[in-house]
Amino acid sequence: MLEVKQIKSGVVIDHISAGNGLKIFNKLKLNKTDNSVVLLMNVESKLLGKKDIIKIENTHDLDVDLLGLIDDNITITYIENSEVVRKRKVFIPKKVKGLIKCTNPRCITNSDSYIEPSFTLLSEKSLEYNCSYCDEITKYKL
Ligand SMILES: [Zn+2]
Repeated sequence: MLEVKQIKSGVVIDHISAGNGLKIFNKLKLNKTDNSVVLLMNVESKLLGKKDIIKIENTHDLDVDLLGLIDDNITITYIENSEVVRKRKVFIPKKVKGLIKCTNPRCITNSDSYIEPSFTLLSEKSLEYNCSYCDEITKYKL
């Protein structure tokens, strides 16, 4: 097991399916943050075989819906003063605002930038969402 400094305060995004770590890193724009970030890839895991882990220091602010969309195996651990203060799982969000783009080119959410796209989950298996404005079915893609 790799020896990585424990974080004093921050979040640990664990049980990321191997390969999704970098996608999450990019989606969360962690290359733009000033906080220390550690991305561990292909860590041995009893549960998943291999997994990725991301640690972000000095923030508890995470887009949990976005994480649920990308990978619903994820668990998040919140750390303060070197102690775990909270653990949670992520879930595929039933309703999504803003994170998905409607595939219908004529949809009002694609022409009017003031309207935030809004979707309702149709199928957890295929990650299909129903646009609240035009009823088009849109699939979330990484
Ligand atoms: Zn639409």
